[in-house]
Amino acid sequence: MRRDGPWLRAAQGAGLLSPSGELQGTVFGEMSELARTTGAVNLGQGFPDYSGPRELLDEAIEAISRGENQYPPPRGTADLRLAIAEHQLRFRGVTLDPDREVLVTVGATEALAATVLGLVEPGEDIVVFEPHYDAYGALAHLADARLVTVPLRWPAFRPDHDELRRAVTDRTRLIIVNTPHNPTGAVLPRETLELVVELAARHGAIIVTDEVYEHLAFDGEHIALASLPGAASRTLSIGSGGKTFSVTGWKVGWVTGPATLIEAVLAVKQYLSYVGSGPFQPAVAVGLRLPEARFEEERDRLRAKRDLLVTALRSRGLETATPSAGYFAIADAASIGYTDATELCRRLPGEIGVVGIPVAALCTPERQGDYRSLVRFAFCKSDAVLEEGMRRLDRLGELSR
Ligand SMILES: *Cc1c(COP(=O)(O)O)cnc(C)c1O
Repeated sequence: MRRDGPWLRAAQGAGLLSPSGELQGTVFGEMSELARTTGAVNLGQGFPDYSGPRELLDEAIEAISRGENQYPPPRGTADLRLAIAEHQLRFRGVTLDPDREVLVTVGATEALAATVLGLVEPGEDIVVFEPHYDAYGALAHLADARLVTVPLRWPAFRPDHDELRRAVTDRTRLIIVNTPHNPTGAVLPRETLELVVELAARHGAIIVTDEVYEHLAFDGEHIALASLPGAASRTLSIGSGGKTFSVTGWKVGWVTGPATLIEAVLAVKQYLSYVGSGPFQPAVAVGLRLPEARFEEERDRLRAKRDLLVTALRSRGLETATPSAGYFAIADAASIGYTDATELCRRLPGEIGVVGIPVAALCTPERQGDYRSLVRFAFCKSDAVLEEGMRRLDRLGELSR
């Protein structure tokens, strides 16, 4: 078989080629498999082990019973698009035309894929913060674009504005801003977002904001980039029903922004999946219309889990950054004598029964060294699972060196 093609670049971009050129699974797949075969507590992959609000689950069941089981419209059901527009206005003060400026996608993942494939020409630059969600690297390579990264450094994970200024040039086609940020839990401050808008305007770039954790900011205010002056005309905003409502398997996402950009994204999206998640679309519409207090409840539940995990990691001697948002906390294994987190993460499941993800797996090869000793743990798990995970981490000291 021929061993070339865009898939190979994508695999390379996502760090999925072994030194001998074999295609490997993602680190998430590898670690989840280790969790399964060893019975380890899986604090690796970021999915909740509980389901979201009852109202959504009931509506999905009812939609299936009502017979909403065929292809929904290409842009998503009219009612979900309306609910997305209402939600953006209620929480972010952004006004959208639900017929032209809203597109429902198969998760935020498809929104990202169709955006990158639809808007970026070969050889153009995509600027992202690092470490980054792994799909950005793979998509950049599929589009034959260059991924340019701006580091967020341990432990504050704040970007250096001069580094950001240097990264954005006339070659930049997209600036992908993920706030709140996976995996660091950083909520990017207003000044950084304003600088992104200024740089995008100066260099003619399009801004893509990945805001899948928009409702999960514990400290600090999540600012929707599209709500800043001068931003709306050049910004695509991406959201996820799966992340917002703890139903990650439903894969209902959306992208909103100027009608001409949405057209371009739709042109690709309709040949990726065409449509998806039919009966889950009305359910997510119900979720987006829930009273504010319900969003706060979900956030507060997760904040308590963050506190539980961060306190427990620190009490075991692991220096841990306090994440301001999201599903994950990052600890520095060097503080307990391990400088190579990838090696440590491969041993943890078998030796003490816990799974974490090495942060270097979420970095470009050139910068992996800076993140070598960092481990990401997910806290979007039931308290019983978190407590069992921490009980097992009590045996960290018994690891053979
Ligand atoms: C989970 C995640 C996504 C993908 O969201 P889906 O709706 O599950 O496709 C995109 N971006 C970030 C930063 C994520 O953490």
